[in-house]
Amino acid sequence: MLVFFTPRERREPRSIGTGLTWRLFSAMAILTVIACRDSRRVDAATLQHTPNGLQLRVTILGRSTDPRIAPAREAIAHWSGEFVRLGRRVQLDSGTIRDKSVSDDVLSAAGGEVMLGIGPATSRLRSSLSSVPGDIIIALSDTDLISFGVTWSAGSKGVVVVRRADIPPLSMPNTVRNVVAHELGHALGLSHNADSTTLMCGRPASCRPAAFASESAHFFPLTASDEEWIRKRWP
Ligand SMILES: [Zn+2]
Repeated sequence: MLVFFTPRERREPRSIGTGLTWRLFSAMAILTVIACRDSRRVDAATLQHTPNGLQLRVTILGRSTDPRIAPAREAIAHWSGEFVRLGRRVQLDSGTIRDKSVSDDVLSAAGGEVMLGIGPATSRLRSSLSSVPGDIIIALSDTDLISFGVTWSAGSKGVVVVRRADIPPLSMPNTVRNVVAHELGHALGLSHNADSTTLMCGRPASCRPAAFASESAHFFPLTASDEEWIRKRWP
């Protein structure tokens, strides 16, 4: 996620407890999550083994004519390249397109819990994707929600949600590929930093998707800390 919550994100429905109870719990849990980020190495046995090595299967939910599919696939390929560059054996496949949509209310509500990565709305999102094949699901939304990523773990799909791109900021050149790459970074376990020249800049820094805008197609880089994280986390 790259930008601050808007009023829309503050209105997510709650399925358990009161809104106040959940917000207090969330605030405490966010601090806990930030302090205790899971840095354990991914067990290779939990990944798909193919003749080409370990694989994360990606499914893109959207229309086959969606202009975001090409830059999303560039972002997927970019991450496979980063894994190679960092000496990892795991690869992402090229991404299978499925013409299925997820309710915008479900997506928006889960976006409101993204700093935490867990909560009733995230559970609803995961539940709605349980029948979709793949390890990482990229959902192309047609609404103004804030793009976000949910971290993959063994037995629990990673999710990337991308907002509509027919209006700014994602209609600006070079933004979609970097927003998808950024959210894939979250799906792979990376957190935000405050360096606006890098891929994972985000809250609480003031980075916005528009910062990726460029007439030249290129991906923003990882930090040395991101690279160290990927080396530790992924086989
Ligand atoms: Zn982010």
